Amino acid sequence: MKTEKSDFWDVVILGAGPAGLSAALTTAHRGLKTLIIEAKEHAGGQPSFLYSEKRIIDIPGFPDGITGADLSDRVYRQALNAEVEFRFNEELVQIDDTDKVEKDDSLFCVITDKAGYHCRKVIIAVGLLHYPRKLPLLDALKSDQVFYKIPKISDYSGKRVAITGGGDSALDAAVMVLERHGAVDLIIREDIPAGKEDTLKRIKECGGDVHTSSEIVSAAFSDNLFALDLGGDIIHCDIVIVQIGFLSAKDTFKKLNIKLKDDSSVAVDSYFETSREGVFAAGDVHGDIELITVAWAEGIQAAIYAFKEISSPYWLNERRLKDRKMSLISEKIIAAASGNMNLK
Ligand SMILES: Cc1cc2nc3c(=O)[nH]c(=O)nc-3n(C[C@H](O)[C@H](O)[C@H](O)COP(=O)(O)OP(=O)(O)OC[C@H]3O[C@@H](n4cnc5c(N)ncnc54)[C@H](O)[C@@H]3O)c2cc1C
Repeated sequence: MKTEKSDFWDVVILGAGPAGLSAALTTAHRGLKTLIIEAKEHAGGQPSFLYSEKRIIDIPGFPDGITGADLSDRVYRQALNAEVEFRFNEELVQIDDTDKVEKDDSLFCVITDKAGYHCRKVIIAVGLLHYPRKLPLLDALKSDQVFYKIPKISDYSGKRVAITGGGDSALDAAVMVLERHGAVDLIIREDIPAGKEDTLKRIKECGGDVHTSSEIVSAAFSDNLFALDLGGDIIHCDIVIVQIGFLSAKDTFKKLNIKLKDDSSVAVDSYFETSREGVFAAGDVHGDIELITVAWAEGIQAAIYAFKEISSPYWLNERRLKDRKMSLISEKIIAAASGNMNLK
């Protein structure tokens, strides 16, 4: 395993999604040498690799909405301007402790599948979703018309599109195709889809054919046309969009020597620090609210607490001691008050 330079970074951030990018902007603007390691070839996270063409309408400041691709590109450029460094196509494997010390901090070594990076603080922002789940029987056809994310708008104008999956992503994809004059066959394995009921209603109103309790049992592709066998019914279509969930990033967490929650997401305290001192986490990796703006806010907070630990060592420990004292005092007040009440 090659270790990059004898040099070290103040902060290494894992994942270039909304949480990682906002964290990096924050640490870089505070003069910390910042590196982001990203498994994919682009920055942006889910808005970039999952719904780049979707117009996002809930980001404050964009009254006409903004596409996932545009938003990702803007934040990425901002990070480059702030001199954040990036390594793409590299995946986190584990985070090692080392006996190296720089500026009073014991250094970590972040190990990826390609190299090792020494740093003072780590921020984990790898999200929960990783690569889309594949359908081997479609991949075996070797067609470039099988998509695991929604293809560009112009790609399905006037085409017959089969979409497989019953979650919100599949249902959203069906609406997008119908709105852009494609014909839709929605193939859902379950009896009742997991996605939103009103989206399903809209698909039906717009003329989409919904096949519940169905799945593709075999498929053929010739003359640019698919024949999908649903176990009796054959569907013919030009494009197949597969939206059947994601391989989870949770497998990575198990190797990081940090406390996990019952659902295997990352546990953090109120300072976004994990059970391992100096290792922070932000965004979907731990969050209950999965939104871009929340990931941004958490990335910024994690970065500020990491900065505080660097610029004022022991600051977080002092804050924690103070928090503990305050909670002991309130416990005593409550105990005293309930004792008084019992006396009455
Ligand atoms: C279909 C869909 C539509 C959505 N629409 C909206 C919307 O309209 N508005 C909204 O606010 N939110 C929306 N969301 C939610 C939003 O996209 C997420 O909450 C947000 O992207 C979380 O940001 P994040 O940085 O925590 O994680 P992510 O965006 O998942 O980014 C994590 C990054 O880490 C990388 N990574 C993963 N594993 C590793 C590894 N081992 N090593 C290195 N890098 C790694 C990933 O490649 C990715 O780039 C939507 C989500 C979905 C699924």
